[in-house]
Amino acid sequence: MTIALIIPDRKLDDLQQRLSAALTGVTIEVWPQLSDPAAVTFAVVWKHPAGCLQQLPNLKALQSYGAGVDSILADPELPAVPLARIVDPALTESMLRYLAGIESYYRLRLDQFHRQQQLAQWKPKSPRQLRKLCVLGLGELGAAAAQFFQMQGYQVTGWARRPQQLSGVTCYAGVDGLAAALNDADLVICLLPLTSATEDLLNQQLFALMKPGVILVNVARGALLVEADLLAALDSGQVQAACLDVFRQEPLAATHPFWSHPSILVTPHISAVTRVDTVVAQIAENYRRSEAGLALLNQIDRQQGY
Ligand code: NAP
Repeated sequence: MTIALIIPDRKLDDLQQRLSAALTGVTIEVWPQLSDPAAVTFAVVWKHPAGCLQQLPNLKALQSYGAGVDSILADPELPAVPLARIVDPALTESMLRYLAGIESYYRLRLDQFHRQQQLAQWKPKSPRQLRKLCVLGLGELGAAAAQFFQMQGYQVTGWARRPQQLSGVTCYAGVDGLAAALNDADLVICLLPLTSATEDLLNQQLFALMKPGVILVNVARGALLVEADLLAALDSGQVQAACLDVFRQEPLAATHPFWSHPSILVTPHISAVTRVDTVVAQIAENYRRSEAGLALLNQIDRQQGY
């Protein structure tokens, strides 16, 4: 029995060693150097080349190496086996630290002062009055973010596919609830998965539903955002500023207009990165479950795409 690690362009020694230590007697190999593809029953995948899983005739389950599964489900030749994703308190903590930093950055007007520094301009101004915040997506990360900012004194609304109940957070559901969730928010944080229902959701029509001068934070996936619509909304002032951690094409091309836009903060997809040390136990457990024919931890619904 073999576990294949199919995570191109990453050093996988640490993951391989830790999984070997957690699963005595199980062979852990790094794709594409697989000694016997027919022995592989479980694969840990992230941005794998489409079609490559067809080389594994006895695959029983797949484990995403991240919280998202969009890059895996995009494979038209994906085998019809259960697929699990990472859910990890360390990932949530990392996302909350990032969002807390971004919220302070805008509240303290560090974006404006940074621009003024480049012009040697001394123009003191009191903090922005940010009171209302909307979180799109109320899953593991979105619910934690909504509750975190509610504890910080924000009036928080949240939006999900199905009705949710979160203490202190006004929750809306479905397409019909979207306008109410966005209404009057000073800050909108996107933590939705990329699915056929959410692709291009952050577009001109959606910006028009937001409060003029809203600040947008996209830490979900780049393909949720229509880039040209964001640039137009920043030009018109409908959106005041945007913080983007994720992009349609990563790395972001050197010539991309986002890099030099005065109202866009770019970070290179670092808001919540999977940590080998904290996720090995759940990957090993999912391997054991798969071999025992049990349901996986954090198994996704392939129909819904998340
Ligand atoms: P999750 O637990 O699966 O939660 C997804 C949330 O989105 C749920 O509340 C779900 O609604 C909602 N949703 C899904 N489709 C929807 C739709 N069509 N309309 C309205 N709401 C919808 O996911 P998570 O763990 O919080 O992660 C969210 C996403 O963050 C991931 O998919 C990934 O793309 C991204 N992410 C980014 C980073 C980074 O470093 N930038 C790191 C980790 C994750 P229900 O509650 O009704 O199901």
